[in-house]
Amino acid sequence: MKFSELNIPSDILGALEKMGYEEMTPVQEAAYPIIAEGHDLCALAETGSGKTAACAIPLIQKVDPELNAIQGLVIVPTRELCIQYVTEIQHIARRTSVVPFAVYGGFDKDIDIAKLKHGVHILVATPGRLLDYLYSGVLSFKHVKCAILDEADELLKVGFLEDIEFILSCIIREHQTLLFSATMPEDIKKLAHDCLRDPRHISLITERKAPTSIDHYFTYQHPKDKQAALIKYLKEEDVKQALIFCNARHMVDKMFASLRKDFEDVGYIHAGLSQDKRTSVFRQFKNMKIRYLFASDVAGRGLDFSHVSHVVNWDLPQGRESYTHRTGRTGRMGKKGKALTFVTRHDLSDLRELIGRNEISPLWIGKDPLLANNTSPERKARNRKRPFRPNRGKGKPVAKP
Ligand code: ADP
Ligand code: MG
Repeated sequence: MKFSELNIPSDILGALEKMGYEEMTPVQEAAYPIIAEGHDLCALAETGSGKTAACAIPLIQKVDPELNAIQGLVIVPTRELCIQYVTEIQHIARRTSVVPFAVYGGFDKDIDIAKLKHGVHILVATPGRLLDYLYSGVLSFKHVKCAILDEADELLKVGFLEDIEFILSCIIREHQTLLFSATMPEDIKKLAHDCLRDPRHISLITERKAPTSIDHYFTYQHPKDKQAALIKYLKEEDVKQALIFCNARHMVDKMFASLRKDFEDVGYIHAGLSQDKRTSVFRQFKNMKIRYLFASDVAGRGLDFSHVSHVVNWDLPQGRESYTHRTGRTGRMGKKGKALTFVTRHDLSDLRELIGRNEISPLWIGKDPLLANNTSPERKARNRKRPFRPNRGKGKPVAKP
């Protein structure tokens, strides 16, 4: 279905056309009438399937530009996602008089406050900064009619949950609540329901939880050999852009420091950097000025890098949904992508669980450590030739021949 077949005003349609959005994606088609009719919604759809615009288009339509007040509130888990989300709304709303604005940690508060006073219709925010402004009375939610949690399952996890509950409780008037994500673990579903009133559901996640446009490669390596294997892989592959995830900040630093000797255009991002530096790296990567980006999970969710051809998990992702979100940074909007996950002997039980849970068909580069009879023919031959050596250790039992 085309956007032009819907009841969308021409100023928004014109902007969508300019952005190259003509056909609606499935989640956009499904969500539009539900949001337009004012229902609460929990929408689950694959990474890179256009959830931002699915929400932003009807949200912009709901705003009364004559009313100088926040009417739409979008909460996202990370600062970069905040920038990206508000940029998408700005593009869609550019020919209207709707004013979107983002507030997130690390940005100048005086600028925020001046802008908020001047008038903002749609506020996109990270929870921390939002709380800060709610406590100091900078914000009023008196006119909020629509609240959105993007990456909802992340926002409803332990670390964020209390903040989100408090923020939502500050919206006193009757409003619509919309949740979006590519994942929704069972234990979070109940919490999600508690935020919603008589909700509609969209679930476009097929039987495979990991995106289908991605080939899922794995490689089993001795920890000592990982770096050489990574360099070889990146050199041999036709990499347009690669996002390489590590589980810890210090590992991101370390990998960046060692790989910049072998590659040009390398960058790194994690939450330990100043916000200026984070924003600059994020923009450089979006604009293809950086080709290989080492990242912590701060870049694991929601970010839309349309040129990422390869995602590498230097460490096996921790946490249930992390694999889906990390690898979902490639293969967006129907493009193809490759994911490579490094596995060491310490990861085998987690690996089994990951493969089962995400219902991925893993493609192994080298041997598959999960195969029961995994010994290579050469190794078997070597073992056959090797003479039996009884254990001659002092006091240790001697094996019988
Ligand atoms: P999600 O939130 O589902 O991960 P995004 O909203 O980030 O996905 O969108 C992924 C990409 O698809 C973005 O680059 C966006 O510009 C593009 N996109 C969204 N909707 C359309 C559309 N209808 N037609 C073409 N491209 C689209
Ligand atoms: Mg998104």
